[in-house]
Amino acid sequence: MPADYGSPGGCLWDVFRPDIDNAMLFTRTENLFAVPADDDETPVSVTWESVPDYPVFCLYNAGKGTERFEGNVRDIAWSVIAGDPLLTVDSVMVDGNLHYLVTALRKNAEMNKAELTDYFKTFYSAISSFWGDEYDGPYSMLFFPFRRNTWEATGNGFTNGFVSRYDATADTILTTKRRDLFTHEVGHKWLNNGPVWFPEGFNEMQTGYQLVASGLEDPTYFATYFNIALAGLYHSPYRNAPDEEAEEKFWDDGDYIWLLYWRGYCYAFHLAGVYERETGEPNAWKPMMQTVKPFIDDFTAEKFLDAMAGLMDRERLEKDYRTYIVEGKDFEFLPEDLPSGCAIIHREDGAPQLVVIDTVAFAKHFE
Ligand SMILES: [Zn+2]
Repeated sequence: MPADYGSPGGCLWDVFRPDIDNAMLFTRTENLFAVPADDDETPVSVTWESVPDYPVFCLYNAGKGTERFEGNVRDIAWSVIAGDPLLTVDSVMVDGNLHYLVTALRKNAEMNKAELTDYFKTFYSAISSFWGDEYDGPYSMLFFPFRRNTWEATGNGFTNGFVSRYDATADTILTTKRRDLFTHEVGHKWLNNGPVWFPEGFNEMQTGYQLVASGLEDPTYFATYFNIALAGLYHSPYRNAPDEEAEEKFWDDGDYIWLLYWRGYCYAFHLAGVYERETGEPNAWKPMMQTVKPFIDDFTAEKFLDAMAGLMDRERLEKDYRTYIVEGKDFEFLPEDLPSGCAIIHREDGAPQLVVIDTVAFAKHFE
């Protein structure tokens, strides 16, 4: 089916662009399979008539290479196929459950595999237990190099795995910046539906929260990560664009794309502070997400507001939603609404900045 990959020079969109020949195979499945609209249950099977002479990994058929696949449209509609002469598939056990690490490493293969495995075991165990999930099959992490560009990394999250493409000249895959991206992509297993401010913005909040809660970072890293969003939003040329405009123009240029990540993240942080003020409970993120969990696969703003109204004052909640999300006004970050142990100051360039003023109080948000 026809696919629009954006401008030919735009390396960001290489994660969507098929790259298939005798030396490499990478494609998202929506570029291969015609998908009937609104019918996830139609049975499908996938058979390879001929296969490349290098290893292939199909996310919809994890661990089974190019074996025949039987399932339904939902399994194959949004997925990934990757093949490469250097491709390896390693089993990773997390809390006794099987998952896969899929790599095609150009440099320092053993070191990179070991670091990625350690990261995943720690992080995936923590986030799965946060959500209280039963094991529902292997989760696959695909780290696949770009062939033609040196874009640091980009990624897509799916329900049963994620793919990140990265600069193949990199010596170390798990830099802080890439780890945070991988963490965001894993987070899409849970936050993946609804208006962009939720699956992207709240997923950024989840990323900052879980990096600390899983023990990979100390609590001040939450502020470090959040400050990237605060500065990004403050300097965005579209910072006060209404939500509808930002959604409509999401793919038009980079500034519109990130706007809703940053705005949703600030909104999640704001709500966490309001929740703490109203309940006295410092770990606001957990009850907020438990409240959202029952409709997380069918998320709408209306359901969200109804559910959150059980945790805080509805009138205030609706006013804040209208002001900060629908209308895109600046966040006020009133001191009384901030989570305990922190403050908002302003940098020389005017951008707001979160600082931790009481590390003991601040750490309680992640316990
Ligand atoms: Zn995302």
